Amino acid sequence: MADTRKPMLSIVVPCFNEETVIGSLVARLQELLPGMVEEFEVLLVDDGSSDRTLEVLREIHADDARFRYLALSRNFGKESAMLAGLSQARGDAIAIMDADLQHPPELLAEMLPLLDEGKDQVVARRTRTGDAPFRTFVSRLYYKLFNRLVEVRLEDGEGDFRVLSRKAVRALLAVGEYNRFSKGLFSWIGFDTAVVAYENVARAGGETKWSMRSLVNYGIDGVLSFNSRPLRLAIYFGAFISLVAFLYALWVLTDAIVNGNEAAGYVTTICTVVGIGGVQMILLGVIGEYLGRIYLETKKRPHFLLKESSEGPLVTPVTVL
Ligand code: UDP
Ligand code: MG
Repeated sequence: MADTRKPMLSIVVPCFNEETVIGSLVARLQELLPGMVEEFEVLLVDDGSSDRTLEVLREIHADDARFRYLALSRNFGKESAMLAGLSQARGDAIAIMDADLQHPPELLAEMLPLLDEGKDQVVARRTRTGDAPFRTFVSRLYYKLFNRLVEVRLEDGEGDFRVLSRKAVRALLAVGEYNRFSKGLFSWIGFDTAVVAYENVARAGGETKWSMRSLVNYGIDGVLSFNSRPLRLAIYFGAFISLVAFLYALWVLTDAIVNGNEAAGYVTTICTVVGIGGVQMILLGVIGEYLGRIYLETKKRPHFLLKESSEGPLVTPVTVL
């Protein structure tokens, strides 16, 4: 019997305190999608918002059942919200986009044909026009460093806005790690990937959830969750410091034997003790970071908990795997 089901597109949208913009996103999608695909569903994931986002999502679903929603039991972060959406999406192709219209839905018209040609990931790469110059500079530097340190490659401007085949989503869901750095995971799973460029757009309303501090933490997470090279660097660094200390000791000893200079260097002693102490603290910190991650992974906690969905309360498994 022939398969009569039409291919469906799912769009996963993580939403955290987006009451001001979600309506415009939904209106844009309602206008655009019917002309683009035969069948679609939009999965709006409320990531524990403290504003009226969840109420708005309920209203949207009541109006138009093609817009489903999930609500997480608290704010788990965008990574978990995306994962929740991916785990519940039913489509044959699955797109991920932000709620704030910074990911122009029109671009899907360019992205979807590439998927039909057999690609498994189609990534949108944004140009950084209009970003704060400092943030642009820091990001560029970060990507340079990241690509040096880590085996998977990240490209500046390539974020979570992408369309994935069912095969790629299955692969992503099979990666069960707790600390999820999705940018890296997208790259890690591989598959045939195509890139489509778009111009940067400003947020349609509300405000960004990223502070400089959270960006720095996110950056560190990225490097640490993909390799253990910082530990290797720590060994090199320690070896270098030890070598310097050894040479210096040799010099002091020679000075004492040859010139009889025994009590030299109160200042250098203090500097050395404090300096080495500092280096040790940093290296311990690096080890501690890894240890903390191992601790979290061993707990095997679910990535998110659901409290409600358009299909009823808690109808879904709480863990992905
Ligand atoms: N987001 C989320 N959980 C969070 C933080 C953000 O689901 O804890 C969502 C947010 O609603 C938006 C997307 O992630 O749809 C991107 O967030 P934001 O626009 O703040 O990031 P930026 O575009 O500034 O990188
Ligand atoms: Mg945004």
